[in-house]
Amino acid sequence: MTQQAPRTAIVTGAARGIGAATARRLARDGFAVAVLDLNADACKPVVDEITSAGGRALAVGADVSDEQAVADAVARVADGLGAPTVLVNNAGIIRDNLLFKMSTDDWDAVMGVHLRGAFLMSRAAQTFMTEAGWGRIVNLSSTSALGNRGQANYSAAKAGLQGFTKTLALELGKFGVTVNAIAPGFIETEMTAATAARLGVPFEDFKLAAASQIPVRRTGRPEDIAHTVSFFVSEDAGFVSGQVIYVAGGPRT
Ligand code: NAP
Repeated sequence: MTQQAPRTAIVTGAARGIGAATARRLARDGFAVAVLDLNADACKPVVDEITSAGGRALAVGADVSDEQAVADAVARVADGLGAPTVLVNNAGIIRDNLLFKMSTDDWDAVMGVHLRGAFLMSRAAQTFMTEAGWGRIVNLSSTSALGNRGQANYSAAKAGLQGFTKTLALELGKFGVTVNAIAPGFIETEMTAATAARLGVPFEDFKLAAASQIPVRRTGRPEDIAHTVSFFVSEDAGFVSGQVIYVAGGPRT
């Protein structure tokens, strides 16, 4: 970064997977990073990695679907690291099932983390962004937004995040805030490992099968997504807003 003071970023669901890779990447880019996840202790290894490399980071425990926990967490970040002007809404869960077997709890849980979570976090953080006259919000959507068997809840939430992204881009642009979404395809994380386990397929076989259907013939890595986040939150990406970029090794898969 070339600008004056270091900026503060919050990455949700950052104890592992895509969120952890994003936290590490943003720290390397010069941001102070709040590593937020359900359990603060689980964030410690990522925070330690960042601080031992000379960066600034804070472990924050919060459930993004809990309004009070979100308000407290964002206030702690502002106190501990400075006004959060970058937010990456990455926390996510899956509760897959075919519609006729999907419980109401599984529907609500997925909506709660992805949609309510992104809403609560964005509403809390935008105060700091509009005050600063600068901000970046990046929402994690998915190729599942285009439809995916067994994921009625998840695909609805991920499609919803795309509409949310475009609307926030319209509302917040005049304050210097850009809002974009990334729709990953298959990324090697505990989330995809859990899907393989649920289907009774060894993860390596599952990845090979997925890679054979992906134009670039490999599955994605968390760093592929972190790199795209890094672009969206950069100073020079200020004219890119309301966009959804599919990071999937091809047009959509
Ligand atoms: P992951 O490995 O399962 O990590 C998700 C993280 O989010 C976990 O650390 C989890 O904490 C945390 N989390 C869950 N619920 C939370 C809540 N209510 N509040 C705060 N944190 C919470 O997932 P990932 O694969 O890295 O995925 C990251 C994002 O990318 C998700 O939004 C996912 O939907 C999206 N995505 C992933 C893929 C993929 O192929 N992996 C593809 C498309 C989109 P716990 O460990 O405590 O549960």
